[in-house]
Amino acid sequence: MQRVIRNVLCISDKKVYVFLYNDVPNTAPHSSWIYCKNSSGYGAAHNNASWPCAQQFTDRTLEASGHIGIGAYFFSPTRPAASGGWSTEAEKGHVFIHELVHTQVPLVLESSLGSVDMYGNDGGHNFHELLPSRNSAFNEGVATSFALRYHLPAWMSMTTWYNNNEVMNIDNLTGCGALPPPLHCLQTRLTSASVAAEAACTATAACYKLRSIPAPIVMHNETVSANILFQYMQQFGSELMLVRDVKNALTEMNKASNYTFAPLFKEMVKSGMNYRNPKAAAGSTTHGQFLPLAILDYYTGYKVNDKATLASVLSVTWDATYTNVDDYFSSKRTTLLGFRTNATTWNVGQQLDKFAEHVNVKISATPPPAATATGTGNN
Ligand SMILES: [Zn+2]
Repeated sequence: MQRVIRNVLCISDKKVYVFLYNDVPNTAPHSSWIYCKNSSGYGAAHNNASWPCAQQFTDRTLEASGHIGIGAYFFSPTRPAASGGWSTEAEKGHVFIHELVHTQVPLVLESSLGSVDMYGNDGGHNFHELLPSRNSAFNEGVATSFALRYHLPAWMSMTTWYNNNEVMNIDNLTGCGALPPPLHCLQTRLTSASVAAEAACTATAACYKLRSIPAPIVMHNETVSANILFQYMQQFGSELMLVRDVKNALTEMNKASNYTFAPLFKEMVKSGMNYRNPKAAAGSTTHGQFLPLAILDYYTGYKVNDKATLASVLSVTWDATYTNVDDYFSSKRTTLLGFRTNATTWNVGQQLDKFAEHVNVKISATPPPAATATGTGNN
């Protein structure tokens, strides 16, 4: 945990203010707390206890990059899981790292959102939700990605999500009749893409099967970007690589005109290109630039079939210098799909590990299997 925290703090190289609230007796009035007084009614339901939250300071001349507010009740060893979950030691550490990342990375909302809440009508977000604000989903995702390096709850495995074709939910929004639909009108966009909603859902939300959701829309789910960034760190074996990418991309990530994931992704591809596996055989070449693309492809359900789709997933226009993007679609992607052990089910298994070995990012005692014909299964 100390390693991850140290690395995350390298993003800003600044102090962080941590406010520890004495909310165990639950008698202290909310009004004495500066931040994190409440979260989606949690405080009201738990005797005014504070739920962890954090913010980055927009004034970059301050000595601190941001602040975290956490109550003693949250960290109490006897707090039951029923009190909001995240009650084991490993889970609490995960939440702390998540909040710490929020002090390092700016949240810049899309101007097209207007008065729409970034989280939707209910004002909250969960792991199986598609959020109106894609930048907000990314912001939660990058925070969770570093937290996953310390503790990965099994239920957050997206391999399982895809295998089970789990249901994602979307808050109902009003004012989404216009065509073409604005970025945040996800149901309208799904209808336009001929994706049918599931019958069983709630009165305030619509539900869709994960594998049916087009790649540009699934990026509105925070767990997707969390897994992409986590897997990038896993495959390259480095948190500092992503830390450096974030530092390099921060200026572009601060612009509301950008999907904030896009400038970071470009830095990841550049880092991959510069990566050389020190254990690789002399004379061999490392093709790390393909790995971020393969990881994005994998966690968006293998729906990024060409450069144009990738451009729409990231809301970018690729310039001619990104030839590695062309190479991925013309040759390497077939290799990745060939590692699917069962083309008729969503059996993704260890494909990314095999692909990382194939492009010489990882050394394995056993070589990756030769790629077979492209899978034609349910993707
Ligand atoms: Zn968060």
